[in-house]
Amino acid sequence: MAMRMSSLFLRTLRENPADAEVPSHQLLVRAGYIRRVSPGIYTWLPLGLKVLRRVERIVRDEMDAIGAQELLFPALLPREPYETSGRWTEYGDGVFRLQDRKGDDYLLGPTHEEMFTLAVKDLYSSYKDLPLSIYQIQTKYRDEARPRAGILRGREFVMKDSYSFDLDEAGLDKSYQLHRDAYVRIFDRLGFHYVIVQAMAGAMGGSKSEEFLATAENGEDTYVRCANCGYAANVEAVRVPVPDAVDASGVPAAHVEDTPDTPTIDTLVAHLEHSFPRADGRSWTAADTLKNVVVMLVHPDGTREPLAIGLPGDREVDEKRLGAQVEPARVEAFDEKDFARYPTLTKGYIGPGALGSERSSGIRYLLDPRVVEGTAWVTGADEHGRHVLDLVAGRDFTADGTIEAADVREGDACPSCGHGLESARGIEMGHIFQLGTKYAEALDLKVLDENGKLRTVVMGSYGVGVSRAVACVAEGNHDELGLVWPRELSPADVHVVATGKDEEVHRYAEELTRALESEGVEVLLDDRRQASPGVKFKDAELIGVPTIVVVGRGLAEGKVEVKDRRSGERREVATDDAVREVLAEVGRA
Ligand code: ATP
Ligand code: MG
Repeated sequence: MAMRMSSLFLRTLRENPADAEVPSHQLLVRAGYIRRVSPGIYTWLPLGLKVLRRVERIVRDEMDAIGAQELLFPALLPREPYETSGRWTEYGDGVFRLQDRKGDDYLLGPTHEEMFTLAVKDLYSSYKDLPLSIYQIQTKYRDEARPRAGILRGREFVMKDSYSFDLDEAGLDKSYQLHRDAYVRIFDRLGFHYVIVQAMAGAMGGSKSEEFLATAENGEDTYVRCANCGYAANVEAVRVPVPDAVDASGVPAAHVEDTPDTPTIDTLVAHLEHSFPRADGRSWTAADTLKNVVVMLVHPDGTREPLAIGLPGDREVDEKRLGAQVEPARVEAFDEKDFARYPTLTKGYIGPGALGSERSSGIRYLLDPRVVEGTAWVTGADEHGRHVLDLVAGRDFTADGTIEAADVREGDACPSCGHGLESARGIEMGHIFQLGTKYAEALDLKVLDENGKLRTVVMGSYGVGVSRAVACVAEGNHDELGLVWPRELSPADVHVVATGKDEEVHRYAEELTRALESEGVEVLLDDRRQASPGVKFKDAELIGVPTIVVVGRGLAEGKVEVKDRRSGERREVATDDAVREVLAEVGRA
């Protein structure tokens, strides 16, 4: 049945909603696709729901094509399995928790690893049952710290999540590749530009993990790529190439110097240049200094643990990279009260002399991988207004380990070939991930192998942001007039606009609609009698159905106008040819 503008549950808006900053959010609200209920919580109006269903259809098609089977878990989940896996606590503030009338704990599922694992454990017990891939398209709940851009980062959102179950790593590799290929087909069909980048493998380490990022200037993820060798990675996953150790035999003994009023790297470099010219004749730079940043980690159980990071003074600590390294702990600032608790730290002049679990502060101290053995540094002397020069890593100080927390920059060496990296931004649309045995071990999912021995099942995890995809496609497909849907996602195949009050125009528009529908074409018909042609055209442009057919004055000469929403190109078509022309236009000829 055609959707009729005269009765469609829709009000388009001429103004952008006040809380909407990105174009997809503005346009989806203005064109009547979604409606805000509360921050990060949205209603899908009829047009929006059509698009959402079309995204789901693409995802379902491609998942079914690799033999994955659809099921549906509840969103309301008991605490116990999440307690067993440790995530009831690990998830921290990110999960919505609630209680039933008896006071038992529940949560609204933020992700379903536990449920998938337990379902397989419940039904399967033999290697003969494997491999298995199962998936669901389901509403997830996460109490996001910063819900953003409408449905792009919601607190309630639709995700496709699938899991593969194999007897061994080789099986997992196959399942992973099948999913990866399916994802390529899904994202090709969704019609936005994307890149596949290496992602953080998480606490497991070593396993393969990739993200599908839609390229977007206002995306929340930063990734780097190498034009020389094709390497691409989310900055969180970049591993700094570790330089060779340096021969420090020529470096004089470390010496503490007065450096008054040099609490910042810039003031320090200026002072060094003035008072301690380098023996080798070159100027001092920020990269010659070792900056020590102290942060506070808050663990899921609430315990607070300070952490010190030593990195070259020309680099900053990247919040996201650090966050990914210390997960599930959260990072907070180390504030004045914390300083008061650690009196051996001298703000602005913190040095390796006070840092490390064996030193006076007892604070765990991790170094950027560039701070290799033999490198000489200028760094804080743990006294107000004083720095130490010629302090050599390995010779004069050690740390508790290394950490990948320094920012990654355009021009940094590619970890795989050494060429300069380029950096760009994107939106995470999908994530495929070799989970390994983490959940199978935690929840005791084992099957008998051919020799009758129990083996822990090896799992893969694969997610697509289904509702996020709607925003992402809108973000990549609009102009100043409104949305411009790719054919496969448009809420209708064709938008028939009947202008004016002439009965004949409306009669013909109805007839054309029926004829198109009988050919399987989905029609949005603007049959409003009161709205002016100007209003109807504006709405059609805002709503963004890719093909618009205008039935109006030309009808008297046996003509209608077929307009391409994307190019703006319009042409007159004889009424006798209209159905054929539209079928060709929408790709059904
Ligand atoms: P992000 O890093 O963006 O928070 P994530 O890594 O937590 O995402 P996953 O747990 O890997 O996300 O979820 C799989 C997919 O679900 C993501 O790739 C993304 O497309 C989508 N997704 C995650 N969080 C949200 C959200 N709050 N709103 C809409 N979609 C989301
Ligand atoms: Mg992810």
